[in-house]
Amino acid sequence: MVLEKAGEPLRLTELAVPTPGPTQVLVDVHACAVCRTDLHVVDGELTQPKLPLIPGHEIVGTVAHVGEGVERFRIGERVGVPWLGWTCSRCCYCRNDQENLCDRAQFTGYTLDGGYAAYTVADQRFCFPIPDSYSNAEAAPLLCAGLIGYRSLRKAGSGKRLGIYGFGAAAHILTQVAKYQQREIYAFTRAGDVEAKKFALDLGAAWAGDSNEMPPVELDAAIIFAPIGALVPQALKAVRKGGVVVCAGIHMSEIPSFPYSILWQERSICSVANLTRTDGEEFMALAPCIPVRTEVTIFSLEEANSALIRLRTGRIQGAAVLVTNPKKS
Ligand SMILES: [Zn+2]
Ligand SMILES: [Zn+2]
Repeated sequence: MVLEKAGEPLRLTELAVPTPGPTQVLVDVHACAVCRTDLHVVDGELTQPKLPLIPGHEIVGTVAHVGEGVERFRIGERVGVPWLGWTCSRCCYCRNDQENLCDRAQFTGYTLDGGYAAYTVADQRFCFPIPDSYSNAEAAPLLCAGLIGYRSLRKAGSGKRLGIYGFGAAAHILTQVAKYQQREIYAFTRAGDVEAKKFALDLGAAWAGDSNEMPPVELDAAIIFAPIGALVPQALKAVRKGGVVVCAGIHMSEIPSFPYSILWQERSICSVANLTRTDGEEFMALAPCIPVRTEVTIFSLEEANSALIRLRTGRIQGAAVLVTNPKKS
């Protein structure tokens, strides 16, 4: 499925099988999860996509062919391809364990073609092995909702009481990780979204309420996954002195001005950008130990536009996943 112009639906296009470069693997795609970032790309809120573009950056498939310099993977092995697709290894960020901020980074499904397709190519250095205990469709959301959720959790510090604003794919994974770490989750959903609240409580959240409500206790930290700037002051009011508010999305509507008093007392606001390979390795090792279970709604590849529409209107519980062959999912 191809994006030709922002704001238009993806087009079903007959695509040639790409040829892997010297350090690339050719991936026979089995599943690709649908991320909110894909919506931001398709809607034109992220303004620098390669066009035409195959979106999708939570890819699970098997290696079908390898470039001559590939030594990490063999033909037939199962791999995951995440959002971070290439870095320069040379800039000051790359040299200081901050490759997520690389000046020349390339991103799967944004500046590189992604996984809404039967085949894709990926640089072997940025692919991860997939734990055996997951099916293709179940593993796909781990690759962004999981990885970037995990990075956000680390940014939130080690406090016990954690608020999560926006209870979608990342939140449903993170709740399981946080519970494993013996923390309490306070889930904030769209006003009146009874199903999302029930979903959060079923996963073990200590409390679930509307995003404009105050939680029953002061929070140590809050993570905002919903792309809504007005949640920043809301979350600041909910965290204790010294608490942190983590903005985990790539795009957010404008943050309204707010009184300094809700930031004072050493509260802080930070953002999370992309992932490092270390985040990925740590999380992919941790997920099967907990074990993190993902709830997925399956769509065929051709149904990508309807999956995006359902994500936009908040009608997906857990994660939406496109599969190329339902028998292999
Ligand atoms: Zn993503
Ligand atoms: Zn770099």
